[in-house]
Amino acid sequence: MGNKTLAIIKPDAVANGHTGKIIDHIINAGFKIKAMKMIHLTRSSAEGFYEIHKERQFFGELVEYMTSTPCIPMALEKENAVEEYRKLIGATDPAKAAEGTIRKLYAKNIQFNAVHGSDSDENAAKEISHFFSRDELLNNYSN
Ligand code: UDP
Ligand code: MG
Repeated sequence: MGNKTLAIIKPDAVANGHTGKIIDHIINAGFKIKAMKMIHLTRSSAEGFYEIHKERQFFGELVEYMTSTPCIPMALEKENAVEEYRKLIGATDPAKAAEGTIRKLYAKNIQFNAVHGSDSDENAAKEISHFFSRDELLNNYSN
């Protein structure tokens, strides 16, 4: 099992002022932030990032949402990071997310759901490299 995952504080959560609280949850859960930036995603970057969902009926709306206003991708490190971070954020649909999870606390609905998390070690590596060059990943830093 790997020790890295890619998180995004999505546009709705940034715009609604939840950035600081979400970062607090992440740090308090024991993740190290290895890279972080605020960006306004281009259409082609968002389409590439969500390539695996391109046949889904929600793909167009998902790309609109992710390109609407800035978001904050982060590379996170912790033992068993993918699973641990998905536990911290809760189910895709906040109505089904466990109490105390980031999505339960800050997501509006299944679309505007505040945060992204990788779903496998393989996708985590791909998603981290979508946003960060090797040089941007900090090796000797811990928050
Ligand atoms: N999504 C949506 N409608 C759906 C399912 C997903 O708008 O019925 C959006 C939502 O923002 C979700 C993203 O598409 O986070 C990617 O979906 P996925 O199934 O990969 O969920 P996640 O891995 O983010 O929990
Ligand atoms: Mg997913």
